[in-house]
Amino acid sequence: MNYKRLIPTVLSILLFSCSQQQETKISDQPESAQTEFALAIHGGAGTIKRENMSPEREAEYRAKLEEALNAGYVVLEDGGSSLDAVIAAVNVMEDSPLFNAGKGAVFTNEGKNEMDAAIMYGADRNAGAVASLTTVKNPINAARAVMENSPHVFLTGRGAELFAAEQGLEIVDPTYFYTENRYNQLQKIIETEKTQLDHSALLELELQDPFFKDRKFGTVGAVALDKDGNIAAATSTGGMTNKRYGRVGDVPIIGAGTYADNETCAVSATGHGEFFIRTVVGHEIASLMRYGQKTLAEAADEVVMDQLVKIEGSGGVISIDKYGNIAMPFNSEGMYRGYRKAGEKAEVMIYKDEK
Ligand code: ASP
Repeated sequence: MNYKRLIPTVLSILLFSCSQQQETKISDQPESAQTEFALAIHGGAGTIKRENMSPEREAEYRAKLEEALNAGYVVLEDGGSSLDAVIAAVNVMEDSPLFNAGKGAVFTNEGKNEMDAAIMYGADRNAGAVASLTTVKNPINAARAVMENSPHVFLTGRGAELFAAEQGLEIVDPTYFYTENRYNQLQKIIETEKTQLDHSALLELELQDPFFKDRKFGTVGAVALDKDGNIAAATSTGGMTNKRYGRVGDVPIIGAGTYADNETCAVSATGHGEFFIRTVVGHEIASLMRYGQKTLAEAADEVVMDQLVKIEGSGGVISIDKYGNIAMPFNSEGMYRGYRKAGEKAEVMIYKDEK
């Protein structure tokens, strides 16, 4: 036999099998995890402990999280897009004073509410983001309008607000965002003369003042997979209590707090934004899947439980891939979170020990 003549054939077989392996490895997930459609949500991460929560307040959070999950689920069940599903889920939480987004947004050091939001679609990696909004009732809708009806990705401040008004979105007086608890929270934090993560700051305050046991917090976000196999991510926030006027966090920065690409995953983050920007959290998780051949769970874990922890970046993410695998790691005491897969019931969790 002429072995020399076989060499090119053997080489091409080897090359072919290597490239195949590379391709399947990107999203090599357990069969059992596959589902026709699914979504996951978060309502913020932080120092959330069972002993600091009244049963009534806990029930309120669980009910609102379930309502948000179900709002997104119905859209997906009806064959709607992942984009419509994440908007539906986020809108429910934006309209609730329980979360640090929309109605319940925290205050800046000027005593105003400035909101950031972003949305991204995994099918074409189209994205829209807004920052420093003060009058748009549902900032996530403004982010979507930027994505769909403008040639831009990111609008800020007055320009973003004028655009939102032109788009016919609901505009409210800034006083709509005033909530007494949030305002008191700002005053307390000003007293301590610190700008901190909303949640951690609150724990400190709580130690000094039992009034703060009844605190409210939580950036909101959603990720979803629809029946067409497309994933999307959306995040909306008031940022951090006592943040400087003009400060923009990770949420509207595509690739940091919000990211989606059908090839890898959709991610929505919550936590101390500055650290999430520096870690480019969403894109880093996607890159570990794309180039590092990690599963969604491995990639999300590495970023949240290792990379962020090393620089003391507190918080977590919710993430989904095109098979409906969901990973929701957080390195804080708790994270308001939940998911619902096709044909299954909604699962809502708050504390670390809930699976
Ligand atoms: N990531 C948000 C920000 O830094 C805050 C949060 O998630 O609570 O603006």
